[in-house]
Amino acid sequence: MGEIIDGKRTALECRKALKARVTAYTEKKGYPPGLGVILVGEDPASAVYVRNKEKACEKAGIASFHNSLPADASQADVEAVIDRMNDDPMCHGILLQLPVPKHIDSDAMLRRISPEKDADGFHPMSAGLLAIGQPEFVPCTPKGVMVLLEKAGVELSGAHAVVVGRSNIVGKPAAQLLLSKSCTVTICHSRTRDLAAEVARADIVVAAVGIPEMIKGEWIKPGAVVIDVGINRREDGSLCGDVEYEAARERASHITPVPGGVGPMTVAMLLENTVEGALRYDAP
Ligand code: NAD
Repeated sequence: MGEIIDGKRTALECRKALKARVTAYTEKKGYPPGLGVILVGEDPASAVYVRNKEKACEKAGIASFHNSLPADASQADVEAVIDRMNDDPMCHGILLQLPVPKHIDSDAMLRRISPEKDADGFHPMSAGLLAIGQPEFVPCTPKGVMVLLEKAGVELSGAHAVVVGRSNIVGKPAAQLLLSKSCTVTICHSRTRDLAAEVARADIVVAAVGIPEMIKGEWIKPGAVVIDVGINRREDGSLCGDVEYEAARERASHITPVPGGVGPMTVAMLLENTVEGALRYDAP
């Protein structure tokens, strides 16, 4: 029976450690690190995410600057807010909550955020720096995955890691980070021919697909570590991951639950990125 990797507890530990850094920074500079948050439209889920991030900032002693725009805001309106945050010396990180309404070019908006304030790590500059092994802002969810692996004491060098999913926000950066720790990395996706066989070879499985319980417990190599990034809603409204949790736990050495695994780490890493940005580009 695999050990449960407790993301909730680890996220709290990270946030506690961060608070001490925030206090030291604030005392030295006379003002706290700041995160600019931009929400376009009225999507209820996005509003909840933004509220949680702002609450987490407050608890950590980080200032948050809220910018709400209506669903019919123009691209120029969003650009103007990003530009203002880019120029604001009190703002060290900028977060554009995704998804934005369809008439707005989200890629162009992410590129408009100053690479020096790219708290989410989605700017092409951040992705490029990560790809060449000189990371600055690392996307929050895969960054959290690496912290969980490290805290669980998982040996990474030489391990065969299989990442299922190739998105820019989770799969690709997770693969880059595992590679940077000398894992042998396989990236699987929707066109992978024999997913079961690929997963069965993995010492570490990172699942980031978005299909409920699609990775079967019987595919997991005995003793493998399973990190489930997926957050899916079953028909009965309950949450589940991309991995068949109970069956996978029978075989895994370590496994993250959903909820309470990777999810809580994402917000903790956003706070960490904001503070790291302040320390990097607004050094005392
Ligand atoms: P995405 O839709 O952008 O990417 C999904 C990936 O899965 C794609 O690369 C696709 O090729 C791959 N895929 C689709 N069908 C497949 C199949 N049958 N076999 C193998 N691969 C397949 O999704 P995303 O943004 O990367 O998110 C993935 C999951 O992670 C979602 O459930 C999302 O809710 C969750 N997520 C969680 C957090 C968190 O904080 N824990 C953060 C971001 C995303």
